[in-house]
Amino acid sequence: MITVIGSLNYDLVTFSPRCPRAGETLQGEQLEEHLGGKGLNEAIATARLSVAKGHVRMWGNVGDDEHGKKMIAALTEANVDTGLVRVLPGVRSGSATIIVETESGENRIIIIPGANGELNPSDEQLAANFKDSQPGDFVVLQNEFPGVRKAIEWLHANKPDLSVVYNPSPVRDDLLDLELLNKVAYLVVNEGEAEQITGRSGREKDLLAALHQLLPRPTLIITLGARGCIFQSGETVERVAGVKVRNVVDTTGAGDTFLGAVVSQLYFGADLARAVEFATAAAAVVIQRKGAAESIPEYSRVALRN
Ligand code: ATP
Repeated sequence: MITVIGSLNYDLVTFSPRCPRAGETLQGEQLEEHLGGKGLNEAIATARLSVAKGHVRMWGNVGDDEHGKKMIAALTEANVDTGLVRVLPGVRSGSATIIVETESGENRIIIIPGANGELNPSDEQLAANFKDSQPGDFVVLQNEFPGVRKAIEWLHANKPDLSVVYNPSPVRDDLLDLELLNKVAYLVVNEGEAEQITGRSGREKDLLAALHQLLPRPTLIITLGARGCIFQSGETVERVAGVKVRNVVDTTGAGDTFLGAVVSQLYFGADLARAVEFATAAAAVVIQRKGAAESIPEYSRVALRN
């Protein structure tokens, strides 16, 4: 089983030539609604990109509102088990209000955690939800809920046979803790996150070496946007170049899709190099469509090309 613990958000995206100044009213170009939240994206990516269905479950919270219902329906449609998604009475689902400035392509995002802000797994809940876990199972986490540290520490102490995959995004100062990061099996970061953890920038290889020196335990993957990624397992360092995409439409969700694809491949027995190649191909599909969760392809679509 692959368990994704994390956030579910409803994204409201307004496209406007520029952002309004304080007190100004502007007419925008378009309003779009998308499902999002790194947890939801990663759960859907892992499930859709798995060779077999029925191995992914999501642990998270939604509010008792229409958005919550839509998010649960989308997970179910993607074959993600939602038995651990709680509907919190009297609480709103998490949301992201996004303004995309079409003249510059820049975006501004305000996240309201809502129900995600109450995802604080206790020892008892962790023990109950992982009581039937098997060696070889995977757990995937990111930073959009408060109980991240607790979950990692508990899993490290109580379930050493599980592979914990951690994407420390968005970066939170309280979680930039080397001791904590060294407790996971796989750490997947983008270039900016790698720079924040190591406190240095520079050539990719040097950045990976610096990260490995600080974090000897986890298998490390640094994603590099259009340039692909670089990764390290033990003392082996490899690179996979990005797919050349002529028509990049929207890169939202590229990182989550990449991560879901890596996890689904590793879970079903692929080696790391194969998993990363498959993930690179999957992420290249997502960036050619608008939105995040909606644009994640099925396994067969990526596998056919690979
Ligand atoms: P995001 O926050 O946009 O979801 P991220 O910052 O977490 O992404 P990136 O390193 O930007 O992660 O992208 C993840 C992977 O997606 C890359 O390793 C690459 O395989 C693919 N990718 C992203 N952008 C491009 C692009 N312009 N062309 C080809 N592949 C891309």
